[in-house]
Amino acid sequence: MRSTEQTPDWAMNPETRAGRVAECFRERFAGEPELWARAPGRVDFMGSHTDYNLGYVLTLPISRDTWIAARRRDDRRVRVYSMNLDAEDEFPLDAIASVAGSRWCNYVRGVAATLQNEGLAALGCDAIVHSTVPLESGLSSSAALECAVATMFEELGGWKLTPERKALLCQKAENEFVGVKCGILDQYSSCLGREGCALLLDCRDLSTRAVWIAGGIRVVVCNTMSRRRLSGGEYAERRAECEQAAAALGVSALRDVTPGMLAARRHELSPGAARRCEFIVAESARAESLAGALTGGDWPVVGQLCAASFAGARDLYDICSPAMVAMMDAMLAAPGAIGARQAGAGFGGCMVALVDATRTDAFRAAVREAYYRSTQVDPEIYPVEAAPGAEVFDGAKIGK
Ligand code: ADP
Ligand code: MG
Repeated sequence: MRSTEQTPDWAMNPETRAGRVAECFRERFAGEPELWARAPGRVDFMGSHTDYNLGYVLTLPISRDTWIAARRRDDRRVRVYSMNLDAEDEFPLDAIASVAGSRWCNYVRGVAATLQNEGLAALGCDAIVHSTVPLESGLSSSAALECAVATMFEELGGWKLTPERKALLCQKAENEFVGVKCGILDQYSSCLGREGCALLLDCRDLSTRAVWIAGGIRVVVCNTMSRRRLSGGEYAERRAECEQAAAALGVSALRDVTPGMLAARRHELSPGAARRCEFIVAESARAESLAGALTGGDWPVVGQLCAASFAGARDLYDICSPAMVAMMDAMLAAPGAIGARQAGAGFGGCMVALVDATRTDAFRAAVREAYYRSTQVDPEIYPVEAAPGAEVFDGAKIGK
């Protein structure tokens, strides 16, 4: 099989990774970084597109994360290099402009500008970014980058944000500076993770509940390797369709629509809008149900809820791609599969499987082979752990 791995082996060993990042820092900036921050990516167990409809999402902040190693500068300039993209950006904190041709720069600039607009003093720095979250694959590398950058500025500036406020400011940066109208899910997940737990997020009041996962289950990410872009039209289109459906039903968000209400008033919606609405109403309810089934270790229910979510994504919300269908077939046929579905907003990218922990290796091998057979693409298939939210850490100690 041809190897298309995005994440090299060295990156999965924290010691080696910290060493490489420090080495890169020395080469570019001379000397050592003085602070390290990290923020996780995430997979969604349930709740595709429910966040902007103010419903429930069950999400897992994961051990794939974004690191930033930095050192303060005194001239109010920020120089930042991404090892993933082999690209550098430099900008003055006192006149932050967005960059038209290079999207990634705007995530860093946007966070700096948004923090400063809130009256939080940002300091200049040299910084190296390195991520093990695959980019543009639905595991939220953009939020991981934003939340790591915000945590770096927080530490440099000597002030402290609550995880909730940090998430909201990062979302604001992505909405207003980058121009992607994402919901709050990605940033909340990246900031509020608790080790060993999934998070049930109520996107209306932004309350979260840590959801303990019963033993014996492994979470395995299955990357279709087909990339997606959220600034593409489909995401905005789905949002607009949901807003129109909510307006037609006289509610402020689809969160307020019950199954009974939809059944009684379906005729007031266009057939297309009714399908979108049906998916969101059921998907939000499934997020709550799955939280209970995961804690209770009720594997048949986990499998049914995941299957219903994928079917809705394919038949009602139209966010499936041929690569996702091929991956779903491969995951369900593999030994040890308990449940499988899309991991994020759809349109390609990553999928997630919940797998009998004792059969993880056999599962990985079978999925890889079956997916390659049907698509001629070699997928990345890897287990992930539940990880804590954005934080500073001692990279120098790890790298030694
Ligand atoms: P997702 O968040 O699902 O990975 P998005 O399209 O929302 O996908 O965001 C991906 C974009 O975020 C990348 O195209 C890039 O501009 C930026 N990005 C994320 N992580 C990094 C990184 N480590 N280095 C540089 N840019 C990054
Ligand atoms: Mg994103």
